[in-house]
Amino acid sequence: MSDRDLSRPDDLLPGLLGPGEAELSCDECFERIDRHVELQLAGLDADGAVPGMRAHLEGCPACREDHDALVAWLAAQPDRGT
Ligand SMILES: [Zn+2]
Repeated sequence: MSDRDLSRPDDLLPGLLGPGEAELSCDECFERIDRHVELQLAGLDADGAVPGMRAHLEGCPACREDHDALVAWLAAQPDRGT
């Protein structure tokens, strides 16, 4: 006698979520956001250097707002230092 309910696709979920794209928490996002923005403005691979940042920004309007504000602020600096 089997209690398995074939209508529940539990086995499919891990494959759908995919590996490697772990999303950051807001705290982790906040710690790394300046680095991500600096790399982005430098034309480097910011998403590769800070994995999960882009996924978090797409799902978190608050952090995206911080990110956009930081991009705008840094881009407005005449000399961003070293
Ligand atoms: Zn967030």
